[in-house]
Amino acid sequence: MARYIGPVCKLCRREKEKLFLKGERCLTDKCAMERRPFFPGEHGKRFFKPSQYSGQLREKQKAKRTYGVLEKQFRNYYNLAAKQKGITGENLLKLLEQRLDNVVYHMGFAVSRAESRQFVKHGHFMVNGRKVDIPSCGVKRGDVISLSESGSKADKIKSNLESASKAEIPSWLETDSSAGVGKVLSIPTRDQIDVSIKEELIVGLYSK
Ligand code: SF4
Repeated sequence: MARYIGPVCKLCRREKEKLFLKGERCLTDKCAMERRPFFPGEHGKRFFKPSQYSGQLREKQKAKRTYGVLEKQFRNYYNLAAKQKGITGENLLKLLEQRLDNVVYHMGFAVSRAESRQFVKHGHFMVNGRKVDIPSCGVKRGDVISLSESGSKADKIKSNLESASKAEIPSWLETDSSAGVGKVLSIPTRDQIDVSIKEELIVGLYSK
């Protein structure tokens, strides 16, 4: 699946919000949102009056950028969410949260979703004992995520696990850092999903 390979800090600046796409750098004063907190480009400091449509569009773009998903795949997630029972916007966020790359990131194996995506693609993870190298693979309740042979040799994953704070792991997941194993305890509820996305605006955009 294709992915965005352009400058990522521009994406945060476009959304005027930190999307934490670069791991540790996002927490330092080198963050572009600390140094240039205005839109990228020549007219970046101009004031634009947002319309209803632009508000909806920006929420959709923010969600896509946060989870590293491009338009077609995002639309597919939306269509799937709309077919499920319950609130479409919440279903959409749940589907995005259940992506393997997102789960690996939240478990503390990686410092950003981009890094976890790379680790997954390199075959560093197993789901229920089987190697999986598809970042978009959806996990379900009870799934066990562990390191493959190559993953247990990766120094970067080891150091990420050592520095990962247990407090930052969402309550629907658990990680045993010393064993390099994580478990999906449940499917997340909306209040367990810590992203500042107004999903109802995305539903408003797509249901036009
Ligand atoms: Fe966004 Fe991180 Fe870049 Fe800051 S450093 S602008 S939070 S990607």
